[in-house]
Amino acid sequence: MNDLIKKAKSYLKVLCKDISERCVGSEGNRTATQYAEKIFHDLGWTTDMPEFRAMDWHDGGATLEIEDKSFEVLVAPYSLGFTGEAELIQASTVEELEALNANNKILLLHGDIAKEQLMPKGFVFYNPEEHQKIIKLIEESGAKALISATGRNAALAGGVYPFPLIEDGDVDIPSIYMTEEEGIRLLPFIGKNAKISSISERVYGSGYNVIASKGPTNARKIVITAHIDAKKGTPGAIDNATGVIVLFLLADLLKDYNGKHQIELVAFNGEDYYAVSGQMLYVQQNMEQFKNMLLNINVDGAGYKEGGSAFSYFDLPKDIKSSTDAVIESYPNISKGIQWVQGDHSIFVQFGVPAIAVTSEWFMTHIDDQDITHTPKDNPTIVNLEPIVEIAEAIADLIKKA
Ligand SMILES: [Zn+2]
Repeated sequence: MNDLIKKAKSYLKVLCKDISERCVGSEGNRTATQYAEKIFHDLGWTTDMPEFRAMDWHDGGATLEIEDKSFEVLVAPYSLGFTGEAELIQASTVEELEALNANNKILLLHGDIAKEQLMPKGFVFYNPEEHQKIIKLIEESGAKALISATGRNAALAGGVYPFPLIEDGDVDIPSIYMTEEEGIRLLPFIGKNAKISSISERVYGSGYNVIASKGPTNARKIVITAHIDAKKGTPGAIDNATGVIVLFLLADLLKDYNGKHQIELVAFNGEDYYAVSGQMLYVQQNMEQFKNMLLNINVDGAGYKEGGSAFSYFDLPKDIKSSTDAVIESYPNISKGIQWVQGDHSIFVQFGVPAIAVTSEWFMTHIDDQDITHTPKDNPTIVNLEPIVEIAEAIADLIKKA
């Protein structure tokens, strides 16, 4: 136990301190994936790093001025920059937006239409028609720029307030955002001339998934996943350095595995990225493989300092369910959790693969009111590595039993 805690500590330091950011497309993200590959490789695993194109983004800040008033605004991630002025108009519902002539104007979206973050255009796993419709209306509006005033929505935007209505490198309308309160201050200026200066740059580069495998290649596969990327502006300790550390510890615990299954450890790259590029690439490369997969175990949000860990089951066959029950029973700090969908296990479930999602109980019970996820507060000070080691040991037990 002690030795693994020590290792986990050094992994956490590298992922969250030595590497300053892990957002997809950044240099730090590439460094993190190279680091992961080296750990797997040095422990004797066969490794692969499939590459994809990725966009990073540089935020130079934004200003909004009308008459002699200025308003506090932020650049929407991956937006194009914009410097210019135009008449300010507004819509608070889809109907209002549909009826509006926004051509060459600056469009403020607030209230009902801005209550939740719009799913990116290319996000295929979950994308409500309402979101796609709003995006289409915005793109076809002819507006010069978009301002959104957004509220709090922890379940959909993590702890981020205000949240960007659009976070999508595939949408080309320059976009800035503000709090609900600033939106209320702005409303009396509808019809006036608004001046925006928004400095934002798209940087094109690449990213990698890291895949480590072991065991007979023609056997059924057990795939353990954790996303290695983090949102820009957060060290991403719980989301999801700890998940990646579970993969590293498993690489250690299973280095001499000689059971009947093929084991694959996947550091996914893109769970917190608008284009989910690493996951899309994995799906593309494994379309024919899903039917050979026995089980997916995905770790995301594990190791919070308070409370225990939760294992949630998705369509587990009888034998796997009873062996998982038995393993959980032998670890006092692990319990069975309710089902949740916002994680990479959902991809496997969609392709008919039984899955187990692993997270912190605390995040499940605070999904609607926590203000940590995707913010600077998600740093090593909120991590307890003991449950991380415990999770790795429990998964290793389960794999040996399967
Ligand atoms: Zn996550």
